[in-house]
Amino acid sequence: MAHRDKEKARIYNAKWRAENKERHNAYNTKWREENKERFKNSVSEWRAANPERMREIRREWCAKNSSAGAAYARTRRARKRGAGGSHTETEIQFLLACQNYRCANPNCNSDLREVTKHLDHDIPICRGGTDELPNLQWLCQPCNQSKFTKTMDEFVSPPNSAPAGVSTRVMC
Ligand SMILES: [Zn+2]
Repeated sequence: MAHRDKEKARIYNAKWRAENKERHNAYNTKWREENKERFKNSVSEWRAANPERMREIRREWCAKNSSAGAAYARTRRARKRGAGGSHTETEIQFLLACQNYRCANPNCNSDLREVTKHLDHDIPICRGGTDELPNLQWLCQPCNQSKFTKTMDEFVSPPNSAPAGVSTRVMC
């Protein structure tokens, strides 16, 4: 019967794959053992010949594996949206210290060491702000969420409220 033949073929194929997988793996291992030096050399040669690609790989890796990479990921997202500029993790940690670890909203002042903090764009990227340090500030999560796409001035002093006070944006 055709069905039985199919079944037989399936079993045969599975067996063949298993046997050859082992043979294939054994061959690969043996080749690597025998060509350890050559293998190592070819990798470093490839690295030397492809510095751009290496940098790309390293950046991708950093983006996925370290907190420094988080800054890179943010920058990349901002770049995607067409914003100019960039910042490093060190710069934004510095910014946090400059704000005395307080939420940049003068009406809030939450201690950012105790609450969830968000890195915010004073002038949102979607409204033409850049991803550079002068346009960045740390806010607590609720402030960041309610600021949304407002600029910091609009958020702190809505148009129909009392006259805008002196900007309390931390400068250093
Ligand atoms: Zn806040």
